[in-house]
Amino acid sequence: MSASLSSEELERYARHLVIPEIGVEGQRRLKESAVLIVGAGGLGSAAALYLAAAGVGRLGLVDGDVVTLSNLQRQILYGGGALGQPKVEAARRRLLDLNPGVRVDVYEERLTAANAAALVAPYQVIVDGSDNLPTRSLVNAACVRAGKPFVYGAVIRFEGRVSVFDARRGPCYQCVHPAPPPPRAVLDPAEAGVASALPGTIGTIQASETLKLLLGIGSPLTGRLLVYDALNASFEYVTLRKNPRCEVCGPAAED
Ligand SMILES: [Zn+2]
Repeated sequence: MSASLSSEELERYARHLVIPEIGVEGQRRLKESAVLIVGAGGLGSAAALYLAAAGVGRLGLVDGDVVTLSNLQRQILYGGGALGQPKVEAARRRLLDLNPGVRVDVYEERLTAANAAALVAPYQVIVDGSDNLPTRSLVNAACVRAGKPFVYGAVIRFEGRVSVFDARRGPCYQCVHPAPPPPRAVLDPAEAGVASALPGTIGTIQASETLKLLLGIGSPLTGRLLVYDALNASFEYVTLRKNPRCEVCGPAAED
């Protein structure tokens, strides 16, 4: 049975209800949906704000950091009053102010090999807003094992990347990145920098992809990598293919 919508919700989501692909049924579906956001930084800020605004009924946030001054250049969940506070607590306050009808579960910790499966379990779609390869690989492996899609996003300087990895319908992250790159080949955001609005653009696309997956509408970025070059204002697509010998999602994978 679908959750019903109150008169206040009918007004709050009025611009959704008139869209044929969403409507009352879609809005009820969003209300019953649960999304985990790994990392409450620049990508997670944009994704969480829009998913809360859109009426996703249950949001989970995983992040073990506190808010620092250098975060405020791009992490729009936080204001100056949140400096020094745990990100997930400040984020929950902001999200509940935006939409008190949403449940926000917070996990003040890093996602690790030990807790990944338990963190992913209650949620239908996982949004990866982490800024490092080890976490991303753990998210991928946990999602493959759980049979859930994860919405990938990455930003550095003026370039952003976004895709949907769902091993049931296409490649997983490990299919595309079978071996970790050499250490110096990957730029560290803290050293290389991130342009302010870039994680907003990519995190917002991650939110749109998540809503599409929850609603079962449109063509998700499964099997396609979208590369955004903010300096050139260009969007390009790269086709991603499943690796039949993938160690994570292939037949040789052990669970
Ligand atoms: Zn794979």
